[in-house]
Amino acid sequence: MNEWIEKSKTYLWLPFTQMKDYEQHPLVIESGEGIFLTDVNGKTYYDGYSSLWLNVHGHRKKEIDDAIRTQLERIAHSTLLGAANVPAIALAEKLIEWTPSHLTRVFYSDSGAEAVEIALKIAFQYWRNIGEDKKQKFVTLTNGYHGDTVGAISVGAIDIFHTVYEPLMFTSYKAPFPLVYRHPSNDPNIVRDEALEALQKIFAEHHEEIAAMIVEGMIQGAGGMHVMPPGYLKGVEQLCRKYNILLIVDEVATGFGRTGKRFAIEHEGVKPDILTVAKGITGGYLPIAATLTTETIYEAFYGDYTEFKTFFHGHSYTGNQLGCAAALANIEIFERERLMEQIEKKAVFVAEQLASFTELDHVGDVRQLGLMCGIELVRDRHTHEPYPWAERMGYKTTLTMREKGMLTRPLGDVIVFMPPLASTFEQLEAMITIMRDAIIETTEKRG
Ligand code: PMP
Repeated sequence: MNEWIEKSKTYLWLPFTQMKDYEQHPLVIESGEGIFLTDVNGKTYYDGYSSLWLNVHGHRKKEIDDAIRTQLERIAHSTLLGAANVPAIALAEKLIEWTPSHLTRVFYSDSGAEAVEIALKIAFQYWRNIGEDKKQKFVTLTNGYHGDTVGAISVGAIDIFHTVYEPLMFTSYKAPFPLVYRHPSNDPNIVRDEALEALQKIFAEHHEEIAAMIVEGMIQGAGGMHVMPPGYLKGVEQLCRKYNILLIVDEVATGFGRTGKRFAIEHEGVKPDILTVAKGITGGYLPIAATLTTETIYEAFYGDYTEFKTFFHGHSYTGNQLGCAAALANIEIFERERLMEQIEKKAVFVAEQLASFTELDHVGDVRQLGLMCGIELVRDRHTHEPYPWAERMGYKTTLTMREKGMLTRPLGDVIVFMPPLASTFEQLEAMITIMRDAIIETTEKRG
């Protein structure tokens, strides 16, 4: 056994990982090139989950490597607390150009969860700063995921991640997510209308105490890759406007081309008051995130120091120059290589390839928006009966995929397929073939 594998078991405690599982199936990555990762034993894998949903142009992309090196010759880091830096300014200008025009201010952070914490704190303080002290609560959706910090889990609703921390969390209103696959009607329009009606009820009753609603952009990621029915997100926006509630759209997973648009809100022309972005922002290189707001929100924090309007948030590495330089290079490649146009074509290709999966005995549903896909494994595809939790069919299937040379992480029994956006058609096809073979081998052998 390779010494790094042994040492990984001795010294590390990995995130979102039961270490007893890890000990049985350890994996230590040594290098990456394009859409491939290579482990310390020299085995190469397709990066089928974009190194957790963030890689865009592949690993070791020359232009991003060079941009980081060039920045390193100037400075690696200086604080953003009370002092700006050049890459952070240039990136902010670019982000404002890239996002819908009503968003005018960029607040940096280091992770998606922190971008969400900031969004929540800004929304909360915004109402205080304009004298509406009663508006303190948040509305979120069942099955939602917004990160793992205490504020983010307070607006999250995935039992396995969140229940244990309940005593630590603040309470938020939970409106039902329009989950088509498990609804008796299976009709997206009915599911949408019911969900909007339920949301309206919460808003009508409690709007005076609600600061903001937070939703993921068009597709619930960690909750199992559930796409919102058409018109739902627009409906949420309209209700927020009607009841004077701020709309926070969390595009940490969906931003930067993942769903086939630069940002998922573009699918329905939704204009959030606050937008959170992370993951794809640096092309999967460095930990940068951002929370964008309107000028109206920004102005509510502007004033004399003694007015107590200041937003007191910021970390040691906020606005790191290397990260901002990587993000700028990432966005330049998007533009130069006209990646958005290619993603649309690739998404159509993937949809065609995945269509045949629904014929497999244990595939219940195939869900996709752009290059964000989930394949739900079930015991019975006619009744939608899930596998017993303890059977861990999703986990076992991804282990089979690993044997066959492709990495991903399941969400329960949903197999995640989130390839780097720059994957070629041949690479997409090869990954889909591995996934299909692994599903058949694992579910039909044991299912
Ligand atoms: N929001 C959403 C919608 C996410 O999918 C995630 C991560 N999967 C987060 C927030 C948290 O991001 P991070 O892991 O960078 O903290």
